[in-house]
Amino acid sequence: MSQHRVPLLRAQTISKFYGRGHQRRQVLDQVSLALYEGSCLAIVGGSGSGKSTLVRILLGLEASEGTVTYRGKAVEGRHSLGYQALRSEAGLIFQNPFTSLDPRWSALRSVSEPLRIHAKRLALSDEQIQQRSLAAMEAVGLDAQDFAGRFPRDCSGGQAQRIAVARAIVTRPRLLLADEPMSSLDVSARQDLIATFQKLRQDNPRTALILVSHDLGVVQHMADRILVLHNGRVQEEGTTNQVLSHPTSAYTRALLEAVSQ
Ligand code: ADP
Ligand code: MG
Repeated sequence: MSQHRVPLLRAQTISKFYGRGHQRRQVLDQVSLALYEGSCLAIVGGSGSGKSTLVRILLGLEASEGTVTYRGKAVEGRHSLGYQALRSEAGLIFQNPFTSLDPRWSALRSVSEPLRIHAKRLALSDEQIQQRSLAAMEAVGLDAQDFAGRFPRDCSGGQAQRIAVARAIVTRPRLLLADEPMSSLDVSARQDLIATFQKLRQDNPRTALILVSHDLGVVQHMADRILVLHNGRVQEEGTTNQVLSHPTSAYTRALLEAVSQ
């Protein structure tokens, strides 16, 4: 449907090596992907398959062979137009909220920080920053009045991850990138966070989402397309329906058997 438009984010033939000499090891091999406005692409693969490396490359944080473009502009080095557009329009969420949130900061301070950094450019008053931060907390299902003054140590893993999601969405990003956001959570907190992401997608239909997971079960109700990565290679890429009902690789079939219900 959206295939005729320019992708928001595109990676073409990304290869990545670590180490030198006989230590040299290839961790990504000719990986290509396209992410369109408003869509959700899941990157799924086991531990060590290269998912986080790919995410860092997509964000322009690590060099690689191949090209990454954001809105058609090259993401290469911190001064490139693509990098700057991407970093001002992307929200990031990581695996462990207790390491990604500053333990000394209240939830309100953490959530409002991205707005404070851009307050001048966005012409936001302190009051507007506070309003938008509280609204972001409500949008992820937190009672903002209750949570504003809480520190990470006063939160469960699921609550802390919601604070991290609120921080990622407070700038109204066009692209959300979440690297294993559910994997540090227990089953019920994971279900709650999946529901939160689904609601965020409904509320922000133009925002694109890259969701990284080792678990096909986590992404099956959210992703429009799934890319399966194994040992740095794309095993298959297709619509969620295709990949789940007609997997073409043995690796994907093994992942399907391991799906948590
Ligand atoms: P995943 O996120 O899928 O678990 P990663 O992208 O973290 O996988 O890692 C892919 C492979 O690259 C792993 O074998 C890992 O050990 C290796 N790797 C990741 N980062 C580095 C690095 N900075 N130096 C050397 N090897 C690395
Ligand atoms: Mg990883």
